[in-house]
Amino acid sequence: MSSPQSNESKVNSSWIDWFVGMKGNEFLCRVPIAFIESKSNLKGLKHKPEALQIVLDPIFDSSLDWVSGYEAELYGMIHARYILSAHGVDDMRLKFERGDFGRCPRFYCDRQRTLPVGLSDKWGQSTVKVYCPRCNDIFKPRSRNEMLDGAMFGTSFPHMFFMQLPMLRPQPPVEKYVPRIHGFRLHESALKPLESRESSTANMGSSATSSGTSSSPSPSRIDQDV
Ligand SMILES: [Zn+2]
Repeated sequence: MSSPQSNESKVNSSWIDWFVGMKGNEFLCRVPIAFIESKSNLKGLKHKPEALQIVLDPIFDSSLDWVSGYEAELYGMIHARYILSAHGVDDMRLKFERGDFGRCPRFYCDRQRTLPVGLSDKWGQSTVKVYCPRCNDIFKPRSRNEMLDGAMFGTSFPHMFFMQLPMLRPQPPVEKYVPRIHGFRLHESALKPLESRESSTANMGSSATSSGTSSSPSPSRIDQDV
């Protein structure tokens, strides 16, 4: 969306333009000034007034202007609130459809587009991860985005996103990888680490005698796939 301000010279860009445009910050969307200025959106956020002033700075020159270091945290925490709002979901939808957040590395997810998610809603706890809506798992993002704080997105974002846009939720993967040797499916016990294999073999022995079935422990760990 274009605003009258977007016609201004890039030399005098705002702090938000500068911050969102920084390499590594591609996951972030532009939070409108009006959203940041609304007191209700800042409720409960501890921040220094000077940090807010810098975030709202319409003319910012990173080579000259002073930065306290708290602006990124303040902007990030406001960002996490914004992306849960109707406008924020729209902005993130555009980025999702463009593939800005990368794709699931799982082969059977077929390059499914991901969404950013935090493992904590508190600042400084962990960096951002990406959530795949096909396998419902999380992954490390591309290396250039992995330093962003996860609280800039929060723990609920992708789930709220698909609640509001259920038509964008993909089908789960139809295929699942099955480990095989020469075409034969491996027995479950062969896929366990050595220690748990030994304990399960011991259990198998005792259950075989009590159940009275004819199973003598097979030396083969390979089950034939029918
Ligand atoms: Zn996946």
